[in-house]
Amino acid sequence: QNYCIPSGMINDACCEFETVEKINNDLAPQLRELSKTSFFKYYKLKLYKECPFWKEYGMCMNQACAVETTDETNVPEMWRSDVLGALQTSQAGTFFQPFKKCEYTDQDFCVVEDESDSEGVFVNLLDNPERFTGYAGMSASRVWKSIYEENCFNIAPRIDSINNNNFGSPLTGKSQLGNILQNVVRRSDTTDNEEVCFEKRVYYRLISGLHSSISIHICDEYLNQTTGQWGPNLECFITRVASHPERLQNVYFTYIVLLRAISKAADYLNSYEFCTGDKNQDFRVKTMVSELVNAARSCPETFDEKQMFASPESRLLKEEFKARFRNVSRIMDCVGCDKCRLWGKLQISGLGTALKVLFSYDDEYLNPKVNPNLLTRTEIVALFNTLNRVSESLSAIERFRHMYQESILGN
Ligand code: FAD
Repeated sequence: QNYCIPSGMINDACCEFETVEKINNDLAPQLRELSKTSFFKYYKLKLYKECPFWKEYGMCMNQACAVETTDETNVPEMWRSDVLGALQTSQAGTFFQPFKKCEYTDQDFCVVEDESDSEGVFVNLLDNPERFTGYAGMSASRVWKSIYEENCFNIAPRIDSINNNNFGSPLTGKSQLGNILQNVVRRSDTTDNEEVCFEKRVYYRLISGLHSSISIHICDEYLNQTTGQWGPNLECFITRVASHPERLQNVYFTYIVLLRAISKAADYLNSYEFCTGDKNQDFRVKTMVSELVNAARSCPETFDEKQMFASPESRLLKEEFKARFRNVSRIMDCVGCDKCRLWGKLQISGLGTALKVLFSYDDEYLNPKVNPNLLTRTEIVALFNTLNRVSESLSAIERFRHMYQESILGN
């Protein structure tokens, strides 16, 4: 199998693969530590909603698909439904909830989990690692198909087939034909005489990058069903991701978009009150977040969101982009494996939060003194955990690369 080692500029971004790998190596230890804190390890979501698009029969019965939920008594008191529910009582003492709550506001790019909802469940993310579960077949492929075919502006096959020609030769990542094709796509953005605009490519890359990242976690923590051993599976990684340069590239792309969102929201995140009720721990989390966002802010420029939706005509495109992304977040309720649905929902929410930061607010509006309540706790938890997941994928890519090189030397 061909194995692509990416090198040079990342399509539709302003930086090189090597730069992203360096940034990730610098930030990864802080991100891993942050994800272990109480503030970031507990996530509340409606895990058992009905699939709104089709009757889903393919529930995964594997033990590996099960999610271990956490009793509310284990989480800080201020996040429990009874406490948050009481906060929604109006001053007059009547419940201030005259209408059914909306699933999202105009600014949101996805369905936002509501922490005060008594139907939600708390999950300790550390108890439920994203890894191989055995979920596959009709149910899984229907979800992916639906996401790509119905919700990706129907550009997926064209971009994938064009960029798959952008193969580097194994171990060098360079190919003249690949470079020419890459330039064709970058400069004219046209395929089959039909324009694929920057915004639509970005949309596709984010979804494909997330898909690749999920595949990488599956291959990195793979269950050998013969020996019962968990471990990295190089063949799985090559087949699913590394033999498709575009899929590999999109993981880097998704990473830099998430990082750019955190860097744009740096002031907001620096002044956010990370409240768990334990002052020492809260101070530690605040310090860690500040170090991380300031490091993200000092990174070389990686992605320029100002190029998107720049023309007055693109207003409608932005609404379509948002509507499609919200639809993807609702499709996540159709994933027939609880563990996969948990991480799918969390990561779509993390990407949605990044898009909201990048495209719903300008820099001035993100001022925490003027607008202190722009992001909910669940959005912040989703944003950082999604970055951590994609960051772990980049680290796994480097480990797989070494495994591949060793396997070649061994032959
Ligand atoms: P799939 O990964 O199902 O891909 C389907 C098709 O999409 C491929 O044939 C290819 O044409 C195309 N494709 C694949 N990758 C990309 C890409 N990166 N970009 C563009 N196109 C692509 N399984 C687990 O074991 N653990 C999990 O945690 C898990 N989480 C999941 C989360 C979600 C939201 C979904 C929908 C599925 C999840 N699965 C998980 C299942 C897993 O993603 C695969 O569907 C399953 O392993 C079967 O893989 P496959 O090789 O048939 O191809």
